[in-house]
Amino acid sequence: MSQFWSQIIRELEPYVPGEQPKSQRYIKLNTNENPYPPSPRVIAAIKAATNSSLRRYPDPNCDDLKQALADYHDLDRDQVFVGNGSDEVLALAFISFFKQQEPILFPDITYSFYIVYCKFFDIACERLPLADDFDISLNDYVRPNGGIIFANPNAPTGKLISLEKIESLLKQNQQSVVIVDEAYIDFGGESAIALIGDYPNLLVIHTLSKSRSLAGMRVGAAMGPVELIEGLERAKNSFNSYPLDRLALVGGVEAVRDTEYFQSTCEKVVKTREWTAAELKKLKFEVVPSNANFVFAKHPRIPAEMLFTQLKAHNILVRYFDKPRINKYLRVTIGTDADMQTFVQVLSKIVKQI
Ligand code: PMP
Repeated sequence: MSQFWSQIIRELEPYVPGEQPKSQRYIKLNTNENPYPPSPRVIAAIKAATNSSLRRYPDPNCDDLKQALADYHDLDRDQVFVGNGSDEVLALAFISFFKQQEPILFPDITYSFYIVYCKFFDIACERLPLADDFDISLNDYVRPNGGIIFANPNAPTGKLISLEKIESLLKQNQQSVVIVDEAYIDFGGESAIALIGDYPNLLVIHTLSKSRSLAGMRVGAAMGPVELIEGLERAKNSFNSYPLDRLALVGGVEAVRDTEYFQSTCEKVVKTREWTAAELKKLKFEVVPSNANFVFAKHPRIPAEMLFTQLKAHNILVRYFDKPRINKYLRVTIGTDADMQTFVQVLSKIVKQI
């Protein structure tokens, strides 16, 4: 605390990301990164762009990357916005659409950055409880509100909502912006991008951090109607003209274009997820059905924090949240087959010893 801090900085409760250890000794299953490298085409493009052109600013409009995303999702380029990771895109969306008279609505258990942005931008919010099985009951969201946001699949549960349910909410909620954060959609869900043409208040957020293996480059996107994208551009151009650097732009384009590589890595992650869930159940864990690149699981007897600590002692990092309702669970990112075999072996030893 310093006398020089503004009131708003004094009152913030910053988001705490999962640990990024300096040491390589860990099997890192704590931040939902992809265990596979980016497409070789991404690396080649970044190498080719690593030259004297770096002295120049990047394209402030990020046209090539927007076009690549538009082509992939069958949209027009002006229906796409990009930013420095989807965290930045989310922040700009909060300030662009959510500062309204009524509070915004989101689940009590979801991506914990949402509440951080509310505090940062002084946006009122109401957090609606998930059902006991961690389902998001979208019917609860049909009430006056200044906006709605949820992650689909949700984090840290991994649970998916069907497109029918999302469309039903959109039909009943036309007076405020509905944001669907699809950070994990490529691991087994149907994207709400298909609904964009029909709902002028729908914004869908994506990231290249998970399914495209580019967490280290910080590339996120929003897809929506032209007017919402224009709103985001106004916010971005009032904050940072060049949120994506030259290397991220060329790398991002290739990550989006290399569909074959993307599909094969997603399939591998999904297969390994199903194997991991089955193995955890053999060890008596309750595993929440996941459509994401992680599983959320609890042991009936052993406290999650104890498992977290013991796994760490064996050089395996997972995520534990010391928060109401979820403090009995571990969130385990899906690694390679070899990572997960080691994880299961170590965990089974720990479980037997306690
Ligand atoms: N949304 C959700 C639901 C997430 O879990 C994450 C990753 N922590 C993000 C958005 C942000 O991802 P990024 O900024 O890497 O695009």
